[in-house]
Amino acid sequence: MSPPSSNLPQALLQEIFGYGAFRGQQQAIVDHAVQGGDALVLMPTGGGKSLCYQIPAIARHRAGKGVTIVVSPLIALMHDQVGALEEVGVHAAFLNSSHSLEDTQRIEREMMSGRLVMLYAAPERITNLRFQAQLASLHERGLLSLFAIDEAHCVSQWGHDFREDYLQLSMLHERFPDVPRLALTATADDHTRADMIERLQLQDARVFISSFDRPNIRYALVEKDNPRAQLLSFIRDEHEGDAGIVYCQSRKKVDDTADWLVEQGINALPYHAGLDASVRKRNQDRFLREDGIVMVATIAFGMGIDKPDVRFVAHLDLPKNIEGYYQETGRAGRDGEPADAWLTYGLADVVNQRRMIDESPAGDDFKRIQRGKLDALLALAEAHDCRRVRLLAYFGEASQPCGNCDNCLKPPVTWDATEASRKMLSAIYRFWQHGQQRFGAGHLIDVLRGKRTDKVEQYGHHSLSTFGIGADLSENQWRAVLRQLVALGHVVTEGEFNTLVLADSARAVLRGEVQLILREAADTPRRARTTRSAGAKPTTAPADLVGDALERFISLKAWRGEVAREHNLPAYVVFHDATLAEMARMAPQTLGELGAITGVGAKKLQAYGAELLAVLAG
Ligand code: ADP
Ligand code: ZN
Repeated sequence: MSPPSSNLPQALLQEIFGYGAFRGQQQAIVDHAVQGGDALVLMPTGGGKSLCYQIPAIARHRAGKGVTIVVSPLIALMHDQVGALEEVGVHAAFLNSSHSLEDTQRIEREMMSGRLVMLYAAPERITNLRFQAQLASLHERGLLSLFAIDEAHCVSQWGHDFREDYLQLSMLHERFPDVPRLALTATADDHTRADMIERLQLQDARVFISSFDRPNIRYALVEKDNPRAQLLSFIRDEHEGDAGIVYCQSRKKVDDTADWLVEQGINALPYHAGLDASVRKRNQDRFLREDGIVMVATIAFGMGIDKPDVRFVAHLDLPKNIEGYYQETGRAGRDGEPADAWLTYGLADVVNQRRMIDESPAGDDFKRIQRGKLDALLALAEAHDCRRVRLLAYFGEASQPCGNCDNCLKPPVTWDATEASRKMLSAIYRFWQHGQQRFGAGHLIDVLRGKRTDKVEQYGHHSLSTFGIGADLSENQWRAVLRQLVALGHVVTEGEFNTLVLADSARAVLRGEVQLILREAADTPRRARTTRSAGAKPTTAPADLVGDALERFISLKAWRGEVAREHNLPAYVVFHDATLAEMARMAPQTLGELGAITGVGAKKLQAYGAELLAVLAG
């Protein structure tokens, strides 16, 4: 029985993916694409972009329109993406150099016959002449259905993942102007958006912008004070046994942090571009396939990682900008369950990020934009009000305080640091007046607090008028003042010793024309176990599963693990945790009952139904 054509997308969603309803704008996007319209889709990570092109691809294929070409930069993940489609009974394949000649020929045959529903390919493949000829042949025979361009922000030089090969994709439109295109991305400020539209020639495409809010992610940005200890207590107190990602800036720090976490008994692995490709692949596979692995990584890790149950993303270093931060933190909680985005930052982060921009070989325009972006991130880090309101505002979205970020949950104590800032700026000014500029943060704070160190004596700084004028504040408080003066650009650092220098804007602060309200510095790292509201604590099993239901869940997971290993796929491709949990809760006894569970489509019901009923029967 075939459903009325207007409801085909809805029917496919249920039949193939086992989902009852589209989310947000999915329906509108799918309808538009099924009818052959071009679209640019901006949707946050975890919002459900894949279905936006997969369902049109399937619907159009059923209507005899042939193959959808999915352009994706993520060769390493194509195997799992295609595996997930084959699991639900959709004929898909990918082309890349890892295939044998036989496999390539077989896939090409499937494609050229039009039997294939979706072909995944990297952008460099699209420009390959042989592939171009194949596309032209498909097109002539009316079997080139749709182009889906995933991670479309890679086309923009303003974005953070620029790929030269993406620039060539405008060719698709030039050569095949009547084939509809869907460009999708989770990241795009106004700049990047305009750039994408221009470079991909999407001027006439409909733009679908979803809310960028990820309400299940809890944001916290804490001051750095022994970051390793802070990280460890964050993991132990809130995420024991959970899968998570810890981002560090350098390869060395990744290695060191991963080693250290392992010594502390955490199941951690490193990932960065300096590791052998085979090690990288093994670690990524383990992260995707095993439960509860903490991946310590540079930002080389993560794009396209669609593991739904990453419970936290932690940053030990400051990202470059809010887009990067939001993209990275967005990898937490794709399944919609509670997840944490936790970042620790300090003065050195601010200094490093500023320096990286200053010292980069880029042109002045580019640097100016990068500085503006960093400033926005620093303002977020120093904010006293709702983090989410600020994040969403950055992407052009108005919202109300969220009740699920550190500042909402525990409003920070603030103090008027105008006077303290003036004292600090004066002290820097006095060093300069003495003709000795080469002093960094430590010495400056010693002078302000009136500490007679050897260095103070050596330079005679105890006789400066600024010596001891700040004895009332702790070292941590002074560090916070300095960090914020640097963040606001009133103080800049120079040279390899990070010599502190006043910027022009410091004058207004010195004259008392600028008021500075700061967060109270945390004098002790947070150690206390923070308790979450009931039911919100994500563990390896949902809290409401107890007794028989919990046992069923455990058996189901064990069964899933075996199937995943047999098929060489991540467990979540077989079934999501949420689907297993619903099975454990409902304890279905017939195929009909089993098929009604979210995430159980027709193909999986047919393939696994009997086995599952046996597992559930115990
Ligand atoms: P994105 O690519 O936008 O980051 P995905 O396409 O990976 O997001 O989707 C995120 C998760 O949400 C996936 O696990 C997907 O199966 C699930 N999902 C998407 N749309 C729906 C829907 N309409 N109903 C239920 N689950 C959905
Ligand atoms: Zn908030």
